[in-house]
Amino acid sequence: MTLDATWARDWIDRTADVVEAERHGLSELDRQIGDGDHGENLARGFSAVRDRLGELPPAASPGAALRLVATTLISTVGGASGPLLGTAYLKGSAAIGESAELDSEAIVAFLTAARDGVVLRGRAEVGDKTMVDAWTPAVDAAAAAAADGASPARVLRAAADAAATGAASTEPLVARKGRASYLGDRAIGHRDPGAQSSSLIIAAAADAAD
Ligand code: ADP
Ligand code: MG
Ligand code: MG
Repeated sequence: MTLDATWARDWIDRTADVVEAERHGLSELDRQIGDGDHGENLARGFSAVRDRLGELPPAASPGAALRLVATTLISTVGGASGPLLGTAYLKGSAAIGESAELDSEAIVAFLTAARDGVVLRGRAEVGDKTMVDAWTPAVDAAAAAAADGASPARVLRAAADAAATGAASTEPLVARKGRASYLGDRAIGHRDPGAQSSSLIIAAAADAAD
């Protein structure tokens, strides 16, 4: 399908659904290496986003819908993930401006700016066992797919597959950022909750594009 405002709203809707469905699983991951609230944080945030989507004018651009995600997450999600993901959506939406339709290059621009926003805010690098470990492989895979001439939907699918692999790759790592960094070697063997949720968010974007 064309990646227009309908796609953006469907992405947001699917994200709210998956975050609600995985709420306990995400909090359970966070119980292992954090404070156990990651699923609750995101479920609260995306449920607020869904409530506010109706306030957008029907002709709102994809960028406007994603900017609403940003401001809502920043104001409703307590914890590290709210400002981090909020900044991702804010920078991502700024990168696509008011375009009515997103092509493959625009998707890459969105993902790149979103990842850069997370890094700007949290200063984590790949391998620090954070959500960056999902976002950066997603950006790289999306850029490679777009360079090969892939459709926007296939670019998103490549990003989602790489994000899932990236989230799994956090399991053997020691954390260098966030609460899990206080645990030292005890974080080994546990998947980073933020990397897992970011991979679900990116998968929802690809599912909405199918
Ligand atoms: P809190 O840790 O404040 O309870 P959440 O549980 O909602 O917040 O989010 C935790 C997630 O935030 C971690 O799993 C990690 O992915 C992400 N995170 C924490 N600090 C950083 C950082 N500096 N950079 C990137 N991501 C981070
Ligand atoms: Mg937490
Ligand atoms: Mg917390």
